[in-house]
Amino acid sequence: MQETTATTPILASKKLLVPSNQLTVMNCNKAKVLMSAAIDEELTSKEEAELNQHLAMCPECRAYFQDAKKTKIIIKERIVRVKAPQNLVESIVRMTNITST
Ligand SMILES: [Zn+2]
Repeated sequence: MQETTATTPILASKKLLVPSNQLTVMNCNKAKVLMSAAIDEELTSKEEAELNQHLAMCPECRAYFQDAKKTKIIIKERIVRVKAPQNLVESIVRMTNITST
């Protein structure tokens, strides 16, 4: 029980070591969400600025984003998921029409 209370001051002192300007920087997960929106051109100018800020200081995400822009893998996944059911629905509707007439 005393061990739990002992870890709290350590975490608190770690927070103090973080520079204040790093607190506004997004993490890689949020950056990837913005990248997917950026490829879809759904980004607001503020989000684009935030993403660029992260890419400027995160080589990993920069490489990921350049790769994603080239291959468009991020949106491809979305399009396949949306289009496939629509085609199915259309052919089912046609089949139903033929049968009911
Ligand atoms: Zn990153």
